[in-house]
Amino acid sequence: MKSLLENSHFSDFLQPSQIVFNLKAKDKIQAVEELLDVLVKQKLVENKKLILTRIIDRERLESTGLGHNVALPHARVDTEGEIIAIAVGKSKAGISFDSIDHKKVHLIILIGWNPSLPGLFNHLFAGLAKFLRYSGFRQRVFGSKNKSELYGVLSEIALSFPQEDRIISRASLLMKLQEIDIKKKKAKKEQRKKLTEQANLIRQELDEALVDRYDRLMERYGFAVAEVDGGVCQGCNINVATGLSSAIEGSNDIYVCENCGKFMVASKNKEK
Ligand SMILES: [Zn+2]
Repeated sequence: MKSLLENSHFSDFLQPSQIVFNLKAKDKIQAVEELLDVLVKQKLVENKKLILTRIIDRERLESTGLGHNVALPHARVDTEGEIIAIAVGKSKAGISFDSIDHKKVHLIILIGWNPSLPGLFNHLFAGLAKFLRYSGFRQRVFGSKNKSELYGVLSEIALSFPQEDRIISRASLLMKLQEIDIKKKKAKKEQRKKLTEQANLIRQELDEALVDRYDRLMERYGFAVAEVDGGVCQGCNINVATGLSSAIEGSNDIYVCENCGKFMVASKNKEK
């Protein structure tokens, strides 16, 4: 199993039969349902209704629209056999997905993941985000003329564990976890239960090492994620290297501050 994680391709989890080249769906829920129907038909998932509910719950927490016209809706599945169930849909007209950049989504990759293999989901997510962030690659995805061409382009996606010094496209999710954990401290019993459930949803899909580090920082400082504002890490008030600072700005990646060790994310004030 370990070797599967270390060296695999997106195509290990994807067959052309799991691709809908022209989604009929007009909105987010319809699109998710259309893709779930594919997974049911391919016998990759059993309980469509349950997974739909989980996906909607997850979307409420934070949209899985990555920006740049791509979304990765996902949910935990409990099936014994398959560890991962993927369906891909392309929409020419685009579907509104509440993405960070408010752009309509033209590519939806729906992922059902089984938590029995820790790290698998994050591995997959990071690999997808890494390829799909390149506009040249996205243009080839969006410009593909038919299903087999789309399958060919997507098959180029190689999956590798995210590098230690940068965690791709998870900044807003980690920030959300911190907001929830801070809110939890002041919450009353009933609300605390709900917040714990939300936090667990996020924890499940983040890499174990990242969550461990996050917990240690939270325990020690009361916060773990710091914004970078004007080139300065707000966790320690020390300047970040210029190149690094401009890489962080406007990105949804997580970096680690060399000085204070906290996670650094782009300042929300800077978002335009
Ligand atoms: Zn710092």
